[in-house]
Amino acid sequence: MSYASPLEARMARKVTKAITDYNLIEDGDRVMVGLSGGKDSWALLQILDVLRQRAPITFSLIGVTVDSGYDGYRHDLISSTCEARGWEYRIVHTEIGEVIDDLLASDATPCSLCARLRRGVLYRLATEVGATKIALGHHLDDFIETLLLNLFFAGALKAMPARLVSDDARHVVVRPLVTVTEAEARQYAKESSLPIISCCCRACGDMSLQRQRVKRMIAELEIEHPEVKSSMIKALANVAPRHLLDRRLNPLPELRETAVREDVSPLRFISR
Ligand code: SF4
Repeated sequence: MSYASPLEARMARKVTKAITDYNLIEDGDRVMVGLSGGKDSWALLQILDVLRQRAPITFSLIGVTVDSGYDGYRHDLISSTCEARGWEYRIVHTEIGEVIDDLLASDATPCSLCARLRRGVLYRLATEVGATKIALGHHLDDFIETLLLNLFFAGALKAMPARLVSDDARHVVVRPLVTVTEAEARQYAKESSLPIISCCCRACGDMSLQRQRVKRMIAELEIEHPEVKSSMIKALANVAPRHLLDRRLNPLPELRETAVREDVSPLRFISR
């Protein structure tokens, strides 16, 4: 079976490698794909469906939409597309939009509260539909932008994991597009004739100023150094802890010696 296009072949190669490297999908999995109707979630569902038909393992897919209740959200286009393509689909209607409006000032950025509320709904849905994995459409650009946002504005050296087990260990969130760029996801959703829709919230398309700035900075750097994104995503998988300043990773020698003498873990020693 050949791929529909060179882009699909490249996406398939990248996603297969991510699945293997991070153990994102296993034999027998029921994978629930968060489907907002944006380009990234469509690209994810489409490429996973392509891989499902070729994979040496068996897994099933279900697309799920969490409707936040914003006026004009064309979730009907999502359900009709899934039906036409034979994709199993569920939608849950919520009042997340109203809750956010009640809780936040009108000039506050709603995205992190929105993501937390929707994550809660997704976890409940995952249990309802018997999903063993929850797949989200974060792509390479999301990973490196989050890395820089945390570095520049939050004083932390972190991005996001490709595979995350929930705090109560009941859910596994996976991000198979980790090495797929935003441009590839956009182009793939387009060439697959998937209807890209907006979630219709007031923040949609209006990213926080910091994220916009970081996006612009990476785009400018990319003109001079076309490999900059690929270097950054590689860096996330090539960490040198001894060249960082976090003493939880590199306890001072005297702490390490005491820990060894007293048979105490350096981490425990430092946390006292
Ligand atoms: S853009 Fe809108 S829907 Fe998306 S995370 Fe932000 S508030 Fe939520």
